[in-house]
Amino acid sequence: MSEREVIVPLRVLPAPRDSFSRPMRDLRISVMDRCNFRCPYCMAREIYHDRYRFLGSHERLSFDEIVRLTRLFAQLGVRKLRLTGGEPLLRANLPDLVGDLTEIPGIEDVALTTNGVLLGRYASELKAAGLQRVTVSLDSLDARVFARMSGGFAGVEEVLEGIEHARRAELTPIKVNTVVQRGLNDHTVLELVERFRGTGIVVRFIEYMDVGNRNHWSEAAVVPAKELLTRISARWPLEPREPSYRGEVARRYAFADGQGEVGFITSVSQPFCGDCTRARLSSDGVLYTCLFATHGKSLRDALRGGASDDQLLELIRAVWLGRADRYSEQRASLRGALGDERKVEMFYIGG
Ligand code: SAM
Ligand code: SF4
Ligand code: SF4
Repeated sequence: MSEREVIVPLRVLPAPRDSFSRPMRDLRISVMDRCNFRCPYCMAREIYHDRYRFLGSHERLSFDEIVRLTRLFAQLGVRKLRLTGGEPLLRANLPDLVGDLTEIPGIEDVALTTNGVLLGRYASELKAAGLQRVTVSLDSLDARVFARMSGGFAGVEEVLEGIEHARRAELTPIKVNTVVQRGLNDHTVLELVERFRGTGIVVRFIEYMDVGNRNHWSEAAVVPAKELLTRISARWPLEPREPSYRGEVARRYAFADGQGEVGFITSVSQPFCGDCTRARLSSDGVLYTCLFATHGKSLRDALRGGASDDQLLELIRAVWLGRADRYSEQRASLRGALGDERKVEMFYIGG
């Protein structure tokens, strides 16, 4: 090590545990509430039209603000970051933010979730800035089904090209996220598996969730992971794999013939709240402790009001200590009980 290199040590603070003794390990940062797609299950076109008022740039956290807050989250135990949105690649100069985040002491992993169409433009820059891997959302290879599930703003080929750019830039291991909705894309699942088997890319099937208030969710539209598992393993036998780490959201299965893996995110049929270590920061700096939250705490207001680092640390700690979320485990009873309370929308809080 040269004498000139300055190592800023990680200030170790007692890691807060919430009311179910869960530590805070992951932070999902929504860097942009806008999107270039209109997936009906997330941002229905009728609501998020041309005149919809998204956040103005002054309302969003600046990169400096995001970095400052992330440093504090790292002091409280956060080790993994995921940049998301909306569409994170719509945020100008995103690689600059990635570069700053990867240098924060304590942060071990920085990933990005994207719809993929802008990866051609940014994949190598993101890699050079220190991004480790990407997750690309792709609901179907069938052009008509894809258009219906994404709003019709891009073609499947553009997403596949985005994945190819990510592969060439070594933003790996690449994951593909597929939300499955009964009667919409469940008949195209095997085609997706076939396409990515043996490529090193892991497809993860996500049960359609009742996030937000506007997607007309019904349980009838959810395809339970077990059903997909039966269908996929009838064609390509699968063997369960141990989770790579505690709190991993996807249940992993390996192809018996060694051609890779698939995953299932079973938020509806087999909730995993007990291991949920994820905090979420919206683009305008509100801290949420659950994807289905109705309330959050604005860190931006405190930050712009002149709060010191110690005051911000105390604020974040207090939110985490008071956390008792386990919506997915209580879905049946909570859905009816929320009344007029509005859940936060997924594109705003980040997936
Ligand atoms: N725009 C980026 C994308 O689509 O990858 C990042 C943000 S998006 C909100 C993150 C993930 O949430 C995507 O994989 C998307 O499919 C998933 N998602 C959105 N709404 C969902 C819902 N109602 N149920 C399950 N997954 C959902
Ligand atoms: Fe945009 Fe992603 Fe939501 Fe689709 S799922 S509308 S790509 S934020
Ligand atoms: Fe975590 Fe909330 Fe999802 Fe449960 S419902 S796993 S607490 S985000």
